[in-house]
Amino acid sequence: MAKTAKKRRGAQAAAKQPLDLPVRLGQIVEIEITGLSHEGAGVGRVEGYTLFVAGALPGERVRARVEHLKKNFGFAGLAEVVEQSASRALPPCPLYDRCGGCSLQHLAYEEQLVHKQQIVKDNLRRIGGFDVEGDKAITVHPTLGMSDPWRYRNKAQVPIGEQDGALVGGFYAEKSHEIIDMNECLIQHPAGDEAVNAVKAIASELCIRPYDEASHSGLLRHVVVKVGARTGEVMVVLVTTEENIPQRDKLMEAIRTRLPGVKSIVQNINPARTNVIFGEKTVTLWGSDVIYDTIGPIRFAISARSFYQVNPAQTEVLYNKTLEYAGATGMETVIDAYCGIGTISLFLAQKSRHVYGVEIVPEAIADANRNAELNGIENVTFETGPAEVVIPAWKEQGIRADVIVVDPPRKGCDEALLATILQMKPERVVYVSCNPSTLARDLKVLAELYEVKEVQPVDMFPHTGHVECVVRIYRRE
Ligand code: SAH
Repeated sequence: MAKTAKKRRGAQAAAKQPLDLPVRLGQIVEIEITGLSHEGAGVGRVEGYTLFVAGALPGERVRARVEHLKKNFGFAGLAEVVEQSASRALPPCPLYDRCGGCSLQHLAYEEQLVHKQQIVKDNLRRIGGFDVEGDKAITVHPTLGMSDPWRYRNKAQVPIGEQDGALVGGFYAEKSHEIIDMNECLIQHPAGDEAVNAVKAIASELCIRPYDEASHSGLLRHVVVKVGARTGEVMVVLVTTEENIPQRDKLMEAIRTRLPGVKSIVQNINPARTNVIFGEKTVTLWGSDVIYDTIGPIRFAISARSFYQVNPAQTEVLYNKTLEYAGATGMETVIDAYCGIGTISLFLAQKSRHVYGVEIVPEAIADANRNAELNGIENVTFETGPAEVVIPAWKEQGIRADVIVVDPPRKGCDEALLATILQMKPERVVYVSCNPSTLARDLKVLAELYEVKEVQPVDMFPHTGHVECVVRIYRRE
């Protein structure tokens, strides 16, 4: 594998050396690292030219091999740490260098939290034009982290393949479709690892053929495992190329024997030549269609295909902050735009007069309604559609909101939705964001009528570069 990567870089070196740069492809340079990029790479300069060095930390002197050059910046691989930062941690994962799922394991956890707070501040200043340091600055709180930032993920999605005649499952090597076999992922719930390993072993024993991407043959493509962290319930999803599974009963029996916590075994059929994990058809092979989990006092049904936050412990922290910033006392009408399966809506309904939730995916709204019923919560109304269309229609119907909560995907809020918020003028807005740059852009629009009171970063994805925030926003009087 290393050989191929080297060869690739060699070819690139011959073809793509741009002129007039102070560094050459393939060159080893010794540089001072002065910053950390949003993706978690060390940032340094050679005669004013910026190099990103993955794996290097601020305060370090490193030797790095130049791998990719663009006009204004380039990328280099870490060859040697010459002077080490006190914040450097030994990544506990033996596959850390080859995976790519985590990018910050080599940075002490406390420093990861500081870094994430800084990312939020940088975005608010650069993109939103907000003051984040002075007397009148917006308060960006220290990131709320986990006391034990490992084994937090409740969902594993593992591609299956074949190597030297044996079934393997793990992750794709960086920029390739080669599967690296893995038995343990340190950010995964132990029950997730246990279930994936059991299914891999059983499939091998029963000679179930792993999928081969190149020839588009074989049966088992992916093993997906979902765990209810609070309930201990486990769902195993087998993604296969066709519906017929040889020795299906033996397979079910072996899974149930080896994994007594299993409540649901589901098959998803994906016959297409594609990178997309799931196909259209899902059938329950054994047990329940769903597993259950709880966040705070609310119980949720999780099906094979529905979206559910992957870090349940921190989700509770995030939702409690959302509830606090919404300032709900039991009298308010609240709108939850981008409501997914109704998680935030149901959380808010405990302290509001009525909650209206809107979401674009119809299956998610079906789950939201089911979850409301499951908890006996009646003061919620869910509607399917784009938030930027449904909320203006609600306004026309005379619904007025005291609080609007938004939790959009990475691309942020639709402009029309922001315009609607400015017209509806709710007293408070709570913005839950998984992308600080679109957050900053949207807050700048809301700043016309609203004041950003405080920003709370929450670490939902320890050891990765991602950061989530909740923002308290009040209408100016
Ligand atoms: N608040 C939920 C889901 C957040 S993820 C939770 O915490 O679990 C963002 C959601 O926005 C996704 O469910 C996505 O399907 C939905 N979405 C994306 N674009 C949308 C739009 N224009 N209008 C409404 N919902 C949208």
